[in-house]
Amino acid sequence: MNLEKIYRDAGAYLEGHFLLSSGKHSQFYLQSAKVLEDPKIAELLASNLAEMIKKSNIQVDTVCAPALGGLLAGYELARALGVRFIFAERVEKVMTIRRGFEIKKDEKVLMCEDIITTGGSVLEAASQVEIQGGKVVAFAALANRGFCKREGSKNDAKPTCKLPNNVPFFALGDFEFDIYDEKKCPLCVNGSKAFKPGSRGN
Ligand code: ZN
Repeated sequence: MNLEKIYRDAGAYLEGHFLLSSGKHSQFYLQSAKVLEDPKIAELLASNLAEMIKKSNIQVDTVCAPALGGLLAGYELARALGVRFIFAERVEKVMTIRRGFEIKKDEKVLMCEDIITTGGSVLEAASQVEIQGGKVVAFAALANRGFCKREGSKNDAKPTCKLPNNVPFFALGDFEFDIYDEKKCPLCVNGSKAFKPGSRGN
């Protein structure tokens, strides 16, 4: 599966000067919502991810995703795995599980995102699952940004990866483009201004 081609064909592989949610800058941005607007592609990606997870023999009762980014990927993955789907959302900046979602003690929960960079949001959602008694058995994303170690990849996790190294992480592929601190950003040096994806209608 050529993940980059799928993103490019969908117009989801954006080039410009972006301010990422982490505060870093990048010349590229992945707009997964553009890929997932086609339910057939969403289904294809999720079923491939589900196959990887099934082959690993990890038992999953429930998929949980952090809103908004993980919702579509997580829902499709839950469908492909034949399990239920719940989500976590930020309430006044704190990741919370509400809407009547219940987690049984030791329920096996797989955490899903569209893209995992350092894993910050998905890890916050995972800690909420554990507070409610669930057991986080794996992490999954359509794509890995190259900071965390995914199953089947030889590349080790970078120090900035926040995912625990004793829980497997599944992704369909890697997108390893550079991200910069604002002070060291070559695009800023050239005089352009970073903008937040979504703030200009994209
Ligand atoms: Zn910049």
